[in-house]
Amino acid sequence: MMIIKNVRILGGEPVDIRVADGVIAEIGPGLEGPETVDGGGAIALPGLVDLHTHLREPGREDAETVQTGTQSAARGGYTAVHAMANTSPVADTAGVVEQVWRLGREFAHCDVHPVGAVTVGLEGRQLAELGAMADSAARVRVFSDDGKCVDDAVLMRRALEYVKAFDGVVAQHAQEPRLTEGAQMNEGVVSGRLGLTGWPAVAEEAIIARDCLLAAHVGSRLHVCHVSTAGSVEIIRWAKSKGWNVTAEVTPHHLLLTDDLVEESPVGAYNPIYKVNPPLRTRADVEALRAALADGTIDVVATDHAPHPVEDKETEWSAAAMGMIGLETALSVVQEAMVETGLLDWAGIAQRMSVVPARIGRLSGQGQPLEAGAPANITLYDPSVRTEVDPSAYASKSRNTPYEGMTLPGRVVATFLRGRPTVLEGKLV
Ligand SMILES: [Zn+2]
Repeated sequence: MMIIKNVRILGGEPVDIRVADGVIAEIGPGLEGPETVDGGGAIALPGLVDLHTHLREPGREDAETVQTGTQSAARGGYTAVHAMANTSPVADTAGVVEQVWRLGREFAHCDVHPVGAVTVGLEGRQLAELGAMADSAARVRVFSDDGKCVDDAVLMRRALEYVKAFDGVVAQHAQEPRLTEGAQMNEGVVSGRLGLTGWPAVAEEAIIARDCLLAAHVGSRLHVCHVSTAGSVEIIRWAKSKGWNVTAEVTPHHLLLTDDLVEESPVGAYNPIYKVNPPLRTRADVEALRAALADGTIDVVATDHAPHPVEDKETEWSAAAMGMIGLETALSVVQEAMVETGLLDWAGIAQRMSVVPARIGRLSGQGQPLEAGAPANITLYDPSVRTEVDPSAYASKSRNTPYEGMTLPGRVVATFLRGRPTVLEGKLV
């Protein structure tokens, strides 16, 4: 039994939380017990849930492992992550998803839910064993070829039909491949000035529109990964207005950063730290994404934590790998983009970073409101500090953060996974 003293649930009045057997037993003022943790007036949120994490194991343990990736997640306030399927081997069989699931049970500092590939080897030619992955010990409910788009409309239709049998969802990385051949950054005035091959918004929007229509046609669930353009927001808003079963995510970096950083930034021009898929877009896109997250058109924030070793990032722009780490900065970036701007309060953050992602992933023991009887998955967060981002302290094996040197608000004070602290005073337990 443990008492977490002096916390403000969703930013409310200070209370104490009594935890017993991994569950919230009681919430109220003046609780006492033999073992206490001082919350120091921090905000208490239900443990964060990420729908989109690249843990890189098996295959690229030089970039990240289940252990380091989930340590990074815990430091960011997460109690569950969905591990993307683009590993080596690809997570396209019951055997591989069970391997990742077992690594999670053994080494993880948060729950690990493997995402299953939609197609064999992410090659877009034949459907993977979706049913076998759903029935496996990993009980996969989210399927994605993330990193690649399921661009064949017939395969996408079949996948959407297939997952209905077990209430699964297809999470699409929306990128029309022919329109983005050789693409290096957002197509616009900056790419024109820099002479880099552009990545047009329509390449994302065309796939999202098609997939919304397909999901409606077969009556299935579609989730749109990392929405990055204002036009995508309009399409999703339209699909939702029809009552179709479409959800969407936005990354923290697409809520804060813009494509002109490729031209001019504190770390110089053409710095591949800003190279990411989908690319950073324009200020108008950022404003549309923020408004969409605030009004619920975009359902959740997902990190797309994408670790890469130094040699894959610190190279010339065209050769550099795409992606950014994000687990340890997500809450701070979202505070900066959404709370400091008055667009969301802490209850809104809890919905979009815990409750709804758990619902989309069909996780029963995560994303529950902090009340008696709920699993004690709790994140304590102090929003009042502002500090310079220093990746040297990160638990991730990789350092490819675009925020280094920036000053961001907030700090994760503690994370509890079913009552067990994974982070205390900002440090891994
Ligand atoms: Zn992706």
